[in-house]
Order: sequence, then C-alpha cells, then structure tokens
Amino acid sequence: MTRPSAPDLDFLVPRHVRSFEPYIPSKPDAELKKLYRCDHLYRLNNNENPLGPPEAAQAIIAEFDPERASLYPSGDSYYLRHALAERFRLDPEQFIVGNGANEVITFVIKAFCQEGDNIVTADKTFAVYEWVATFSGIEARLVPLQDVTFDDEGMLQRIDSRTKILFICNPNNPTGTYWSEERLRRFLERAGPNRIVVLDEAYAEFVDRPDYPDGMQLLREYENLVIFRTFSKMYGLAGLRIGYLAASISLVDVIRRTGVVYSVNSIAQEAALAALRDDGHVLRTREHVAREKQFLCETAERLGIPAQTGEGCFVMMRMPISDTLVYRKMMQMGVMIRSMTGFRYPNWIRISIGLHDAMEACAEALSSVVAGER
Ligand SMILES: *Cc1c(COP(=O)(O)O)cnc(C)c1O
Repeated sequence: MTRPSAPDLDFLVPRHVRSFEPYIPSKPDAELKKLYRCDHLYRLNNNENPLGPPEAAQAIIAEFDPERASLYPSGDSYYLRHALAERFRLDPEQFIVGNGANEVITFVIKAFCQEGDNIVTADKTFAVYEWVATFSGIEARLVPLQDVTFDDEGMLQRIDSRTKILFICNPNNPTGTYWSEERLRRFLERAGPNRIVVLDEAYAEFVDRPDYPDGMQLLREYENLVIFRTFSKMYGLAGLRIGYLAASISLVDVIRRTGVVYSVNSIAQEAALAALRDDGHVLRTREHVAREKQFLCETAERLGIPAQTGEGCFVMMRMPISDTLVYRKMMQMGVMIRSMTGFRYPNWIRISIGLHDAMEACAEALSSVVAGER
C-alpha cells in the first residue's frame, strides 16, 4: 500500500529510466573480506595500475596544502589543458577535462543526441556508452564483434539518418583488440563528416605497435573525431577521477555547453599535470604489464584455459564453469576478478594485471577452480 504522500513514480520517472537496471558497484574491501572470509584481497577487477601513480604525482598529492580545500578548483582545468596542448601539439581549446572519462562520455551524448536519435557501438565493449545513451532515452545500437574486434562494416550498416555518434574502443576493453591506422582511416572516410566518431583511447599509453593509430594526430584531419583519454589507467589516478576528451575547436565549443563546471578537483588537476610529464613511468608500467601478462597466459595454457589477450593491462579467460561462480570461488581465495556476463561474455572472466604476488595468487586460485572441475 502506498502512503498518500508517496510521490507517483509512474508519473515522475521517464520510461527509459524506470526500465534501466542500475550498475551495482563492488563493496569496500573490508566488507568483502568479511563476506568471503578471506584475510587478504587482491583487486584484479578494474584495470588499475599496480605500480600506482608516478612519483611526481604522489608528491603533489602528499604536499597539497589542506587549506586550499576551501577554494574552488580551476573551472576549466586551465594549466592541465595547456600542458596537454603542448604535449600533443594541439590547441588548449581542443580539450575538455572531466571527472573521469566516464563524465566526458555523458557530455558528448548530451551535446549531440535528442529523442529519436541513436548511437552505434559494439555489443562486447566498455558498457558506459550504451548505459548513458539508454538512461538518457537514446537508442544504443550494438553491433556484434567480428573476430573479437569491432566490426567496421557492421557498424556502417547500422547508421541511419538519426545516428549521431559511433563509439569505438581502441584497443577494446575487454578483448584487447584494436583497429590499425589504415582500418580506422578507411572507417572515418566511409562514415563521412556528419557523424561524430568517438575513439576511446583509455589504454592508448599501453600500446606499443607501429600500426596503432594516434587519435591525437588524426584530429588534424578529421573534424568529426573525438578522442577520450584517462588518467585512471596508465597514470594510476583512478581514485582522483580525471579524464579528458580532445576534438576540433568547433566540436569542443558545442560539447563544453553540456558540462558542469568544477567537476574536476584541484588535487586531480595538479596530480595529472605532474603525471603527464613522467614518461619513465609509462615505460616501467609497460614492461611490468608485458612480463605479468606473459606469466598469466602461460598459466592459462598450462591449465588448459582458453585466453583472449591483446593490448591493455588485462587478459580474458574462458572458464569451464559459470563466471559468476568462478568469481565467488576466487573471492574466497582472496582474488577479485571481473565476471564477464555483464559484458555479454558468459563464462568468461577478465583479469587485470597486478603485482607479481597478486598474479601468483591468481594463478593458484585459477588452478584450484579448474581442479575442482575435474
Ligand atoms: C576505465 C575506462 C574508461 C573510464 O575511465 P575513467 O576512470 O572514468 O576516466 C573509459 N573507457 C574505457 C574503455 C575504460 O576501460
């Protein structure tokens, strides 16, 4: 029975919000340890950098003057945008910094889409493009991966007169596959200038391949292109929430209108600025990831677990039992992985690259899950 004063949610809430299943974040470590009765927990579910933030960024965080907490940050991340412009030889007006790349996804969808419009992306990719579109009342058209890679042909076929944005995750989370520069250029030519093409390069700094396209440089040629990058992955600042987009000045001018100022805090802006200058950190992280990825893949091979591995700081594995059951079993052994049913990959798990002791613990847990099945 509803109380007379209870708001009428059928009246208040749009249908696309009512029917949307909210994302349930994982509980804090202390709660999880109690729940699964483990005394140690290795978090290998979020693709965080196990080496932490670059030293210079750590110093900024440690030395932040607490009195400054009372002051608003720069509303447009002024110095960071200038540093990014210098780094990529672009104009500071080509950047918008957000509260994580997740926030700039919402800016872009709000800027270009209205009721009746649609976006096109893949079915098995980073889910936030689809989520933001769906709970904003915009149709998300999901094109199945082809050879575990974004299907350019299939995406182009789904474009209609109401398609506004094409989202490509390059390299793709979770498969690690990527389009070469040649393939991307062909796609951009065929998509034409009247669709926004978003290239999510959240893992760009992990890729060291000659044919991998540098979206930042392609911005000079394609005025409909939008690049996403983040400080959460390579730069180890996930907890501070800072990411950005880059695009032509005319697009940025529009996208900026949909952003709320002051969403990026002072510590995040300053730590990101320091992090950006540490190229040694990128090289060290790449080496670490390459080494531990190989260790994980060898483990999978030894255990007879099929693995899908590519670029980025994660590996996917196909388990002989349900991924949600694998999640629970591995949690009891203190290893948290990502179960992939939510990515439309039932029975697959995604493991982020951690420090070596975490990888050892993970290998042991995988081996005991597989042994339990025999
Ligand atoms: C992690 C991730 C992001 C978002 O990162 P933020 O923490 O919001 O900056 C965006 N895209 C992909 C593909 C990611 O994996």
